[in-house]
Amino acid sequence: MVDAEQYYTADVMRVTDLNSIFRRVVLGGPGLAGYSSSGHADEWFRFVLPAEGRTEVPPPKIVDGHAVFDEPRPRQRYYTIRAIDPDGPVITVDVMLHGHGAASEWVRAVQPGDQVIMSQSWGRYGPAPDADWELIIADPTGLPAAGRILAELPAGRRAIALLETPGPEARLELESAADLTVHWLDSPDLESGAGRLVEATRDLELPSGPGYVWMGGEQAASRDIRKYFRKELGWPSGRYDIVGYWRPDSEGYLKRYATVQDQVAEIYQRGTAAGQDQEDTLDEALKVLEANNL
Ligand SMILES: Cc1cc2nc3c(=O)[nH]c(=O)nc-3n(C[C@H](O)[C@H](O)[C@H](O)COP(=O)(O)OP(=O)(O)OC[C@H]3O[C@@H](n4cnc5c(N)ncnc54)[C@H](O)[C@@H]3O)c2cc1C
Repeated sequence: MVDAEQYYTADVMRVTDLNSIFRRVVLGGPGLAGYSSSGHADEWFRFVLPAEGRTEVPPPKIVDGHAVFDEPRPRQRYYTIRAIDPDGPVITVDVMLHGHGAASEWVRAVQPGDQVIMSQSWGRYGPAPDADWELIIADPTGLPAAGRILAELPAGRRAIALLETPGPEARLELESAADLTVHWLDSPDLESGAGRLVEATRDLELPSGPGYVWMGGEQAASRDIRKYFRKELGWPSGRYDIVGYWRPDSEGYLKRYATVQDQVAEIYQRGTAAGQDQEDTLDEALKVLEANNL
C-alpha cells in the first residue's frame, strides 16, 4: 500500500478479452488489503500510471494529509469498479481500448503479475427514495457502471437502459433481476464523438411518476442530456446523476480550457464557500465554457 488513505498497489491477476473493444482486468493481491467499496454501484477510482517517458510511479509524499506526486506527475485515469469481491478484495475492471492514451496503452500490454497503483473509490449513483423507475444511459465507457447498476437492482424494479456501442459485437452481457427494458444503439463512429444518445434519449417515452436518470458517457452528450432533464423537463438536481466520462481530442480541449481555467476555478470556490447547490454552480461554469466554445 502506497498511502493508507488513498492509494493502493494492486497485482494484475487475470486479463481477458471480453469482445472486440473491451478487455477485463482483474486486480487483487496483498497491496489491496483494506480497500473498501464506496457503496455506490457506479463507483470509480483512478489508475495512477507513469508520467510520459517514465516507467515507474514514485510513491507520493503526504502533505497536509493529502498524497502529492512529484513532477513529472503520473497520469491518472478514471475507471469503474465493475465488481468487487470484498473477500480479498478482488476488483474487476472493464476497459474500452481506444486509439491512444496512457490507460489504453497500459491495458493493451498488461500481463498477469504486473502491478499498478490505484486510488480509493468514489461514486454518485443514488436514486431519490421516491423514484418509481430509473433510466440508465451509457456509451461504452459508462457500460461497466451501467452493467453493475443493473445487476444490483432489486427484483421488479422498473428500469430502462439506453446503451450505445459501435456495434452488436461490442456489447457486454447484462444481468438484472429488475423489470428491465434495454435499448441498444449501434453507432460505428463513436470514437470521434458521433454518438446518438442525445436524440435517442429525447425520443424515449418516459414512464409516468417520479423517476431517476443516471448517465456515464461522452462529455458533450452528457451535457445535452443533463440540459434536457434539468432545463427542458425541469427535473430537480436530486433526480439525476449525469457524468461526462471522456471527450474526443482531450489534448486540444485542455489547451483551450487553460484560457478559462482560473475563471472556472473561481466559480467553484465561490459556490463552495456560499454552500451553493453543486448543480447551480455547474450551470454557472457551463455558461463560461459554452461562451468560449468549450
Ligand atoms: C468516473 C469515470 C469512470 C470511467 N469508467 C470507465 C470504465 O470503466 N471503462 C472505460 O473504458 N472507460 C471509463 N472511463 C473513461 C476513461 O477514463 C477515459 O476514456 C480515459 O480518457 C481513457 O484514458 P486513456 O489514457 O486511455 O486516454 P487519454 O490519454 O485520456 O486520451 C487520449 C486520447 O484519446 C481520446 N479518448 C479518451 N477516451 C476515449 C474513448 N473512450 N474513445 C475515444 N477516444 C477517447 C482523448 O480525447 C485523447 O485524444 C471512465 C471515466 C470516468 C470519468
